[in-house]
Amino acid sequence: MIASPADRRTGQRVIVHVDMDAFFAAVEVRERPELAGKPVIVGGSRESRRGVVATASYEARRYGVRSAMPIRRAVALCPHGIFIPARHGLYREVSEAVLAILHEFSPLVEPVSIDEAYLDMTADRARFPSLEALGRAIKERIVTAQRLTATVGIAPNKLLAKLASELSKPDGLMVIEPGDVDRVLAPLPVERLPGVGPRTGERLRRLGITTVADLRARSRSFLGSHLGRLGQVLYEFAHGIDLRPVQPRQEARSISAEQTFEHDVERADQVVARLTELCAEVGRRLRAEGWWAQAVVLKARYPDFVTVTRRTTLGRPAADDATLLETARRLLRRLPPRPGGFRLLGVGVESLTRLEQGQLWDDAGRREPDEVDRLVDAINARYRRPVVVRGRLFKSGGASRERRSGAGAGDSVPGGARG
Ligand SMILES: [Mg+2]
Repeated sequence: MIASPADRRTGQRVIVHVDMDAFFAAVEVRERPELAGKPVIVGGSRESRRGVVATASYEARRYGVRSAMPIRRAVALCPHGIFIPARHGLYREVSEAVLAILHEFSPLVEPVSIDEAYLDMTADRARFPSLEALGRAIKERIVTAQRLTATVGIAPNKLLAKLASELSKPDGLMVIEPGDVDRVLAPLPVERLPGVGPRTGERLRRLGITTVADLRARSRSFLGSHLGRLGQVLYEFAHGIDLRPVQPRQEARSISAEQTFEHDVERADQVVARLTELCAEVGRRLRAEGWWAQAVVLKARYPDFVTVTRRTTLGRPAADDATLLETARRLLRRLPPRPGGFRLLGVGVESLTRLEQGQLWDDAGRREPDEVDRLVDAINARYRRPVVVRGRLFKSGGASRERRSGAGAGDSVPGGARG
């Protein structure tokens, strides 16, 4: 954990929360200016039966359209809306570009989701005449470089910085100074505090607590006795206390596995079998560490030691063996044809991301690691080595370019496939 030293003059940290406005919709409007000012709804076509709204422009929100709402309901509320299927690859690229801009301001940038990040600007505060000027500088830089608007909240901690941006969306800027905390926080409903969902909200209501002011009127021990650890945290939040540090994205994250072969591997079915093992290994580590991959890399070394890599971005984040293998096989076909097979093969995943329940990707139908992958992980963890690989994957090899359907052989235990 990296905690910044508090500002020497004020003893306060300077935490900035940057939230892109109606992000997916705004990117679509930027790409198609004729959509400006129209109710744009991203998440599926008008006909999509299972689609849900990923993002609605503010014009669409006026009709009651909200994120996670079924597209069909959005069509009913806003019949003249412009419905667009999500282009996650594009949004991720823009997101990365925005993060790069934020890194110009501070090395301490913590992305929270595709369109939100915290910055710790404590050490760089003196470069700006005021916190407002700092906030304006960030907003202007994003507009200039990306033609997108962001809302910026600045405060002594994450809780208040996020609150500041929530209270000033869209295209807003709000600074909460330590002296403003009571005035801003007290009147809010308790649901505005992180950790208070509908269930906790209901429990608090039964205790006669509906606003932050009500929460502040209770003692720490009262809240602790009724709500346990959460009660303690809520007591602190209610008083504007939040010591959580901004945790920058760590080293460029990637996970990879490679094998150098005793004998060059040439036959197509053997190549696919090796790729299957490598993908199973990478997939297992990916899931064990709780990451989702956004890019896959294939590395190949030929008998003459010439080494080639091919990389591709996934349409949506994945953590399942099947997607890794499918992608690795696609990359395999992009390798230059050379005689003599392979001396080494490697599979890696990059642009790793954490996705949490309830994030937009869920609504947009990201691919879950399936139950079988998780079961295989559990078995392998018990034996501390990969004794199980997925039979279906193992058998779908060959030089054939057709994708086999998922039906067919169940999962088998080839017995120490890698040993
Ligand atoms: Mg946003």
